[in-house]
Amino acid sequence: MYRSHSCGQLRASDINKEVTLAGWVQKTRDKGFMIWVDLRDRYGITQLIFDEERTPAAVVEKAKTLGREFVIQIKGTVIERESKNKNIPTGAIEILVSELTTLNESIIPPFTIEDETDGGEDIRMKYRYLDIRRNPVKNSLMFRHQVAMQVRNYLSQEGFIEVETPYLIKSTPEGARDFVVPSRMNEGQFYALPQSPQTFKQLLMVGGMDKYFQIVKCFRDEDLRADRQPEFTQIDCEMAFVEQEDILAIFEGLTRHLIKDIKGVELSDFPRMTYDEAMRTYGNDKPDIRFGMKFGELNKVAQHKEFKVFNDAELVVGIAVPGGASYTRKEIDKLVDWVKRPQVGALGMVYVKCNEDGTYKSSVDKFYDQEDLATWASTTDAKPGDLICVLSGKTHKVRAQLSALRMELAERLGLRNPEEFAPLWVVDFPLLEWDEDTARYHAMHHPFTSPKPEDIPLLDTKPGDVRANAYDLVLNGNEIGGGSIRIHDKETQALMFDHLGFTPEEAKAQFGFLMDAFQYGAPPHGGIAFGFDRLVAILGGQETIRDFIAFPKNNSGRDVMIDAPAHIDQQQLKELNIKLNLQ
Ligand code: ASP
Repeated sequence: MYRSHSCGQLRASDINKEVTLAGWVQKTRDKGFMIWVDLRDRYGITQLIFDEERTPAAVVEKAKTLGREFVIQIKGTVIERESKNKNIPTGAIEILVSELTTLNESIIPPFTIEDETDGGEDIRMKYRYLDIRRNPVKNSLMFRHQVAMQVRNYLSQEGFIEVETPYLIKSTPEGARDFVVPSRMNEGQFYALPQSPQTFKQLLMVGGMDKYFQIVKCFRDEDLRADRQPEFTQIDCEMAFVEQEDILAIFEGLTRHLIKDIKGVELSDFPRMTYDEAMRTYGNDKPDIRFGMKFGELNKVAQHKEFKVFNDAELVVGIAVPGGASYTRKEIDKLVDWVKRPQVGALGMVYVKCNEDGTYKSSVDKFYDQEDLATWASTTDAKPGDLICVLSGKTHKVRAQLSALRMELAERLGLRNPEEFAPLWVVDFPLLEWDEDTARYHAMHHPFTSPKPEDIPLLDTKPGDVRANAYDLVLNGNEIGGGSIRIHDKETQALMFDHLGFTPEEAKAQFGFLMDAFQYGAPPHGGIAFGFDRLVAILGGQETIRDFIAFPKNNSGRDVMIDAPAHIDQQQLKELNIKLNLQ
C-alpha cells in the first residue's frame, strides 16, 4: 500500500494515527535540529516534521537530501501542530516521520510549482505536466470534469444517449479547412478529421436514434486567432421529430441547470433576438447584453448637413459611453487612436460630449448645431455626462468596428462582470453569406441547415435574404452553441448544394451517402453543438480556454511540449507514397 491517506485528508481528529503518505516535496525548511517538508498531492498539502529527538537519525539525514519535487513515501504519526495554519484544511496537524523512502528524485523544476509561479506562459506550456501540478491548472481540469459530468447526467436524464462517431472520415464542411490523414492502404487517398460529427449525427437520426449526444473532439484547420485551438471539444447533440422550439427548450434547460448547479445562479427564461436585430443594435451576432451602450443609427439625423464623411457613408452609427463626457482631450485622442488601429480599422471617430448642463460639444461643431446633437443624443440614448462615439462607413465594417469599441469600453468601465450571466438566443440567421474572395454564396451555418420554408422562393431572387432555421446561444458575448433544423429530404438538399455552387456530380461525390440516406425515410431533425472548452471557461469565470485543456496548443497551433507538428521519416513517407516537394 503506497498510502493510507491523501495529503489533503488528515485533520485534528486523526491525531495519534499511524499513517502512510506519498507525494511530491513542495518545499523543505531545514532548521538543523528540525526539518519541515510540505508534502503535496492532488488533494492538498500536509506538513511533515523530522525532529532530531524523535525521528531516527538516519531518516533525518535522508530528509536533508530531499529536493523540490522529489517523490517520497513516508510513514509516521499524526500529531498536533504547534503553530497552526488556518489557510489549509490540514493546517491543524503535522506528521512526525519515522520512515522515509525516496520513490523518485527530481531535477530542479524550471519554475516554481506554486499558485503564483515565476514561470512565464511559454515555459509552463513546455513543461505542462509540471504546470498541471499547480492548483490553478489542476483545479481547472477538475472543474472541467465536473461540468462534463453534469452535462452527461442532464442529457442522459432527458433520454439522450452518447454515441461515438468516427474520427477518420471524409470532409464535413463547417467553414474551415480539414486536417487530413493519408491512408497507407489506399494510395493517394486521405481521410479528413471531422470538423464536427455533423453528417454522422444526422445519419444516427435516420438510424432512429432520436436523441443523440457526444462530448467529442473536433478539428478545424483555421487561421489561428488568440485563444482558439485547432482541436477542441463540443457537446454535440441531435434530435429527431423536433422543431426549433423543442431544441431551444432542452438546451436552455441544460444551460440553466449548469449555471444553477455550478454557480448557484438561477436564470429565468432566456431572451431571444433575431440576427438582424442583434446586428442593428450591437453590430454583432453574439452581443454581450450584460450592459447597454446600444447602437443608435444616425443616418437620418446626420446626413442633412455639409459633412461629406457622413453623407458618403452607408451607415452612420453611435454609442453613448456612460460618464464619458469627463474624458480629457488626451483620453479621447487615445480612443480615436484605438479605433484606428489596424485590428479595428476605423478611419476616424466623431464624438459628442453631452455636458451636465444639457449643452453639447462635438468634434463636428462646424457642421452640426445643438439641435442636431440633441437628436443624436436621443437616438443613442445618451444622458448628460455621456460621450457619444460615432463611426461611419460601409455597414458591415462600421458595425464590427463600433462593436469592438463597445466591448473595449465596457471592459475598461468594468461592465463585464464574470459573475453575472446574460444568456441570449440569437435566431433567424441568414441561410447564406456572400464571400468576397470566392465571389459566391456560402452556407452561413453549414449546407445541411434548412431554409425557412416561407423563404425558399427567395433562393432564386434574393439569396442573401433567405433566413434559416438556425440559432446560436450566446452567453456574456460569447457564442457558446449553435445549431439548426436540418434539411431532411433529398430534393431540398440537392437544391441547397446547387445554390452553394456544387455541380450534381460534386454533391454526389462528397455527400451522396447523406442524400442516399434521405431516401430511406429520414425523420425531421435538428440539433445543436456547444463549444465545451469555452463553456467551461465561462462557468469558471475565465476568459481563456487554455487552462481548462490539459495539453493545449499554443497560438501557432503547436504543441511545444511534444514538439508537434513534426517531420516524419523517409520510410513513413515512402509507405504513404508521399513525395515532399520542399525547397
Ligand atoms: N455541427 C454544427 C457545428 O459544429 C452544430 C450543429 O449544427 O449542430 O457548429
